[in-house]
Amino acid sequence: MKVFKFGGASVKDAEGVKNVAKIISAHKEDPLLVVVSAMGKTTNALEELLQLSLEHQSFQEQVNSLYEYHLQIVKALFSDLRHEVHFQLAQRFQSLTRALHKAKKQNAAQAYDEIVAHGELISTIIVQAYLADTGHSCRWLDARDYISTNSLHKEAQINWSLTSSKITRELPGLMEEEVMITQGFIGRSPEGETTTLGREGSDFSAAIFATCLNADSVTIWKDVPGVLNADPKLIKNTVLYPQLSYTEAAEMTYYGASVIHPKTIKPLANHKIPLLVRSFYHPEEPGTRIFEMDHQMEAPAIIFKKKQTLISFNIRDISFITERNLSHLFFLLDLLHIKINLMQNSAISFSICIDSNPAKTEALIGNLENEYDIYYNSDLTLITIKNYTPELIEELSEGKEILLEQKTRSNFQIVVR
Ligand code: ASP
Ligand code: MG
Repeated sequence: MKVFKFGGASVKDAEGVKNVAKIISAHKEDPLLVVVSAMGKTTNALEELLQLSLEHQSFQEQVNSLYEYHLQIVKALFSDLRHEVHFQLAQRFQSLTRALHKAKKQNAAQAYDEIVAHGELISTIIVQAYLADTGHSCRWLDARDYISTNSLHKEAQINWSLTSSKITRELPGLMEEEVMITQGFIGRSPEGETTTLGREGSDFSAAIFATCLNADSVTIWKDVPGVLNADPKLIKNTVLYPQLSYTEAAEMTYYGASVIHPKTIKPLANHKIPLLVRSFYHPEEPGTRIFEMDHQMEAPAIIFKKKQTLISFNIRDISFITERNLSHLFFLLDLLHIKINLMQNSAISFSICIDSNPAKTEALIGNLENEYDIYYNSDLTLITIKNYTPELIEELSEGKEILLEQKTRSNFQIVVR
């Protein structure tokens, strides 16, 4: 039993959907559950639509162009203009329009989830219909019937026991008969509302299904050959890791590698389910295998985490930063759900590097400005080199304004403008 996940880039056009069908077709001898994201940049477009609605602006034109985008894909895939998928597409867009009209009267995060979920619902309808049309026996599943979450809209947390009992009750039997096509990223709250798991959460959805099904493996099909030691858009001469340990992969996602969603690794590691990252352009290549093993990365990993804010808290009088100061700071960081990406302290100051979030930064500073002189810079990048070499440090530091630097035995990190 296997779980596949295809991201938005893999189904951004009709050719993409055909390619996905080809890959599924080559693997359907094993029971298979396939998680699919929204097509191309649909999720961003849906976020913009919600924004327009909340700002009381007209959104119909943008809804039309998103409809047109999906319609072009459908037309290229189905020669029959009366194919049921046309009707389903129109219906989902009507539901989207209704949700957009309703959004202003709702809690914003709840409206977000209801609206944004349309991206994956629509993409999976199209993919399933195409597979069925080309002779594959497959079934569309509403992931919300299986993924049970709490009511924390936009970053809902999984109710594992409920999710697991729903998944194990009927899916293994169904999977014996047909390929399952379902959505990533979405779930349902105890109140029956649609929830989402956080942007790029489809990898995590695949891991949830795989864990509950005790699958043999999860494969994330991507537009890169596997897990590379750096983002090829930022660094020349990247190398592919043929294999990584769970810990190494989790560490890379922690420092900001965007190849896998950070929450994906842990449930798979707990159940020793291998995670494969492979190219949908070159499905014959093995890609990267992430599993439990003793391993030392073949090449240093270079990770850029953008949109960082560096905040320094300076003690006012001639006292020092004490454990009591730190304890209060950490208490507030926890309370405000602010995750520290890097920290450093000196005699009279304490600095943290965090993901930029103006509202959270403002709340933190508001709580502490009476006690400290606070300085901060935004729009920074945190660069991490895991298993650094002196040459790499020199190359990556060159010509950059370094605001903070930290070196341990294995890691070198700088915050730069
Ligand atoms: N479609 C969602 C997003 O773009 C979820 C995902 O792709 O993983 O964030
Ligand atoms: Mg995506």
